[in-house]
Amino acid sequence: MHHFAYRDGILHAEDVPLPAIAAAIGTPTYVYSSATLERHYRVFRDALAIPDARIFYAVKANGNLGVLMTLARLGAGADTVSEGEIRKAIAAGIPPERIVFSGVGKTAEELAYAVGAGIHQINVESEGELEALSAIAAGLGRRQAVVLRVNPEIGAGGHAKITTGGAANKFGISFAEAERLYAHAANMPGIAIEGLAVHIGSQIDELSALEAAFRRLAEIVRGLRAQGLAVTRLDLGGGLGIPYAMSPPYEHGPGLIEAYGAMVRDVTAGLDVELGFEPGRIIAGNAGILLARVLYVNARADRRFLVIDAAMNDLVRPAMYDAYHEIWPVSEPEPDAVRLAYDIVGPICESSDTFATGRELPALAPGDLIAFKTAGAYGASMSSTYNQRRLVAEVLVKERQFAATRPRQTYEELLGTDRAPDWF
Ligand SMILES: *Cc1c(COP(=O)(O)O)cnc(C)c1O
Repeated sequence: MHHFAYRDGILHAEDVPLPAIAAAIGTPTYVYSSATLERHYRVFRDALAIPDARIFYAVKANGNLGVLMTLARLGAGADTVSEGEIRKAIAAGIPPERIVFSGVGKTAEELAYAVGAGIHQINVESEGELEALSAIAAGLGRRQAVVLRVNPEIGAGGHAKITTGGAANKFGISFAEAERLYAHAANMPGIAIEGLAVHIGSQIDELSALEAAFRRLAEIVRGLRAQGLAVTRLDLGGGLGIPYAMSPPYEHGPGLIEAYGAMVRDVTAGLDVELGFEPGRIIAGNAGILLARVLYVNARADRRFLVIDAAMNDLVRPAMYDAYHEIWPVSEPEPDAVRLAYDIVGPICESSDTFATGRELPALAPGDLIAFKTAGAYGASMSSTYNQRRLVAEVLVKERQFAATRPRQTYEELLGTDRAPDWF
């Protein structure tokens, strides 16, 4: 469920009409709903029904300061994949003791920063990283809490580019190597080896692949314990999918989170470990829309192009993953309004700057506002300044209030990032 709905014929975010945001902030602009973020976090936590579960929100899904602050207040931790994300999580009020650091390519500088900051856990993905981290932590006089990310050789997800758990994917330590490396880690001076992690992909709506991966993990835990090694933590990653093409608004393909919670409780029963979770999309996805304005309607004999002011640099998912987003006119159409097929495109000089083809919408005219639904995850966080377009603005709504938690970049800021070489 989310808090974007028509009221008196105008699409609102909570109690704020979207045209008010467009007037104050301009377009394109991401709009996030606090109530939706809070609701998704609580639904996820409650559906797990695991009293001491630790929830590390995946910052890369949406690292907006306002979003992070909203989740921090609910007690969320953070799953991070760079020093920048760790710094941002801390700046948003998430204490280091609630931060985990994942990723295949952490640099020595990043590892030293993370150890120095005193974060809860580093999810190590290779033997080389384990050696590097041990040396860095020992050099700082620390033992860093670590889990090993295992590649269960089970991939899943809505698109090949977001599958991470397959044998051919770059993530994690092979199943066969996990026991040897774990025993090795137990003897390393800078490492406090605590357990294992897994994350097999994103936009997963079939629990069977997740369950198979978790069962493999549980198997390794038993193997390690049989060797006398202690295992106290399992980090089960993120990856739960959300409905993108469901109208009217629909709650996570009913009961998916509840079924996930029940499955996790079943697979981990009796293991006696602290469980961690890294949800991203399921928390932020439905909590955001991208608000854009129609610039032109270019009707040709065979196609009708709707040219809007948002582009693939603002929302790359359709170009990169062939992703589908529902598109809602901000002015509610009459129920019997005639629908026309539009190709919805942005201003960038690339054919991939296309959000949808043949999309049936009521007649739209220049100046009209539209909203891309379910754009709260992997939307603004993947935006860029391609074509020297200013970074897209982001707004957080709370009931009747709204604030630009990332104001639109200015041209001074955009151009000010470059430096002329001194030979000119
Ligand atoms: C991206 C990522 C997540 C979050 O995935 P979602 O599909 O957004 O839930 C969690 N853990 C790791 C290690 C990731 O890379």
